[in-house]
Amino acid sequence: MTNTNSAVTTSIALGRTLQLHRFSRIMEVAVSLERALEIAYQHHMERKDELLSLTMASGRTLFDDLCSKVDDPRFDNSAMDGWAVREADCKEEATSLRIVGTSQAGSEEIPIIGAGEACRIMTGAPIPKGADAIVMVEDSTTELDNVTINGPARPGFIRRKGENLTKGTVALRSGSVLNPASISLAATMGHAEVRVVKKPNIAVIGVGDELTSPGEPLSESSIYESNTFGLSSLVDKMGGIPRRFDLIKDSIDNLRETLDEAAESCDAIITSGGVSMGEWDIVRRIMEEEGDVRFWKIMIRPGGPPLFGSWRGKPIFGLPGNPVSSHVVFTVLVAPWMSSSMGVDEDSRPRLANRVRVVMEEPLRGAPRKLCMRRISIRQEGDKLLGSTRTHQGSGNIHSMVAHNGLSLLPPDSDCEEGDTIDALWLI
Ligand code: AMP
Ligand code: MG
Repeated sequence: MTNTNSAVTTSIALGRTLQLHRFSRIMEVAVSLERALEIAYQHHMERKDELLSLTMASGRTLFDDLCSKVDDPRFDNSAMDGWAVREADCKEEATSLRIVGTSQAGSEEIPIIGAGEACRIMTGAPIPKGADAIVMVEDSTTELDNVTINGPARPGFIRRKGENLTKGTVALRSGSVLNPASISLAATMGHAEVRVVKKPNIAVIGVGDELTSPGEPLSESSIYESNTFGLSSLVDKMGGIPRRFDLIKDSIDNLRETLDEAAESCDAIITSGGVSMGEWDIVRRIMEEEGDVRFWKIMIRPGGPPLFGSWRGKPIFGLPGNPVSSHVVFTVLVAPWMSSSMGVDEDSRPRLANRVRVVMEEPLRGAPRKLCMRRISIRQEGDKLLGSTRTHQGSGNIHSMVAHNGLSLLPPDSDCEEGDTIDALWLI
């Protein structure tokens, strides 16, 4: 990310601007989610590549287009076990043909057949010269050197050379995520190794005096820290390598040191906590004073206070501390940004959520001026998806993310009545 002194912002939500730190950069405040994504998309991580053996490449993103080294099928072959014949010989019922040999998958020497002849053939075996149709083994009876044809001779049972792919065809595009079918296709095309997008290292840093790692003794006023675990799991799910740093007690010097180390060793930084208005919201403070902030606050609920910018040239997302908020903001902001940075078409292969239309079984309250993402349970009934709510919706209640499998996408200032159809994210 470049650090210029003359950044110009196009639109400032709510008509507010903040002049920040010594470079007087103008950051945008209280932006829509769309605008937040637009800004974040302007500042990607560097897309690096590595060569991997195909056996290690499952779930990875292709760096280059992949073209076929061979025709598929490589030669005309049989789709059935049966008999390679001349179609013209089999017009009459119960034709008897002389057996001239066998074509097996992998066999090099293939008989040639002439009029009145048949060659035994296995699935995948080359079509003998002279044959133009296949009779299924089920439609035949054999006696010594002859076969009687009791069913149709079908040219359609011949799989033609190159009918799936011709040599040189790009069958897997750069940016496609290698699922089991595409791994199989890459092998079919002759690739033992594939060049994939290198997993980005993402620093995950928890900030807060009250936080104690699970497994350690709690004081009266401390709580178990959960966000760095959840966020690391999300980073992993998105195809990154999470690098968890030691928790930052609310000390700005300690935070600076850790951010410097993270910027040095990682491709991007995610913090959790400390981005609101309070005195101890040190991520916001240090970013204002020493970082480069592009936006602060998004018009969403939950998860209003995130910030985005760069620290020592590395993209940084300051996520809110409330566990549901950090999870939700990752899902709707960081996840698509990671996909976009890695060159993945997230629309066609979402890893965290599918956008769906849901009929609500209960009313839902929206939020003034904010996109409202309430936790909902989505289930299929007939040809409809139904949505309902179960537990307490507080942004501190991570259990609500476990008890539900979706998020409403209620537009700002809109409530939803029972029976209304709304947009929602169905979490994967
Ligand atoms: P903050 O954004 O720092 O004001 O924190 C908001 C709320 O989230 C507070 O109740 C914090 O205790 C809680 N919180 C902050 N960070 C974490 C974390 N890493 N794990 C669990 N809860 C957190
Ligand atoms: Mg805090």
